[in-house]
Amino acid sequence: MVPTFNLNGPLEKDLRKWSKNTLECYNMLSTINNSSNAYLFNKARTHPIDWHNTFLWIKCNNDNTICSNLNDKITGFKIKSFNHTLPTSDLQQRNYPNLFPPGPINCTACNNLVINNAHIGFCPTHLTTLNNSLQHIKEAFTLRLINTSDVPSSMDIKAWVERSPIFSPVTNDDHPVYLILHQCVPSTLTSLIKMFIKNTKNRQSMIIFFMELFFKDITRPFWKLHSSLMHAWKKARNITRKKKVKYRKKNKKGISAPASDNPTNQLSTS
Ligand SMILES: [Zn+2]
Repeated sequence: MVPTFNLNGPLEKDLRKWSKNTLECYNMLSTINNSSNAYLFNKARTHPIDWHNTFLWIKCNNDNTICSNLNDKITGFKIKSFNHTLPTSDLQQRNYPNLFPPGPINCTACNNLVINNAHIGFCPTHLTTLNNSLQHIKEAFTLRLINTSDVPSSMDIKAWVERSPIFSPVTNDDHPVYLILHQCVPSTLTSLIKMFIKNTKNRQSMIIFFMELFFKDITRPFWKLHSSLMHAWKKARNITRKKKVKYRKKNKKGISAPASDNPTNQLSTS
């Protein structure tokens, strides 16, 4: 008898491979239907996501070690950033309703918009810094692209990079940079690199190079900035770590992810 599952199969040969594909489909479906990802997927209607390279970026080794606490922390941060579940004030307020004041909590930098995962990096007071950092990244990226390119030199790489929407001025979050800040590789980046690098391996390492640069120079500094502002806000209201631990002990069932609610756990010390 040939084993089958739900009229699919047969399962008699490479069962592990079959299960892997099935589980990947299941995980993708659950990601698509996750309400916390709705804002990101809405952006993806205008700026398509290269899912293959996004997957490679999120799972890639972050510190060239076989196994390390830092690598796990960075991968955890990437997943939370992708899912919009980094512990911003709105999520902490949801997790600790008795410790946080009721009502929307505004960003302490602009004092105008509600602070949530989507606001990080796109606060009007931080847009100049974001644009300056993006220009620095563009220079390093162009240089590396010129050096790695395997197409005839008549192609003007610099001009193509200059025209790319990725490096256009950021005025709000309707920009491909929003995807990159949330660990997605925009298809425009892949297409741009594909024009100048035909070798698949070199092309993938170029994408990882760009994503690492962006992570180091933009994603991480903005998260650190947000963490320090939030820390000051909580300090002023006497919301301490000790109180949160006590709250969790008292309301064990109500808190789903206790390790993620303290921003000091999110790469701030590494
Ligand atoms: Zn703001």
